[in-house]
Amino acid sequence: MPQFTCRKCGNLLPEGQTVCPYCGTNNETNFGTDIAQSDPSVNNADQDNKNTFALVGMITGIVSVVLMPLMSCFCTPGNVVLGILPIVFGILGLNYIKDHPGAEGKVQSWVGIGLGAFTLLAGLILIVIMVIFMIASHSV
Ligand SMILES: [Zn+2]
Repeated sequence: MPQFTCRKCGNLLPEGQTVCPYCGTNNETNFGTDIAQSDPSVNNADQDNKNTFALVGMITGIVSVVLMPLMSCFCTPGNVVLGILPIVFGILGLNYIKDHPGAEGKVQSWVGIGLGAFTLLAGLILIVIMVIFMIASHSV
């Protein structure tokens, strides 16, 4: 005979007993819950597949590329910050997939990392060009 848990308090019922010794609930009508069916990991599987880090990584990646021309005009170092954010979220997204096999968002993570790396590199190159121009204009 399989063992059951109380449907009210969740405690393990003694074998063959329908009235819970912990809370007094009669489990006879709906004889408890089969332990094998109440595996919590099955219920949470759907939620675990959502990869928020990957999604945020992709969105910040797109935003960083869109804002890059604007940032380049007003605040060139801002590109470095804009580029680091999607890379960080992309890496967090990939780590999440590693911890939760079957989770979504691998492409989103890499899109975020790629776009972030592009913005970061472009920002760094612009800073180098600006520094070279500053040094050149001072030495003349
Ligand atoms: Zn009970």
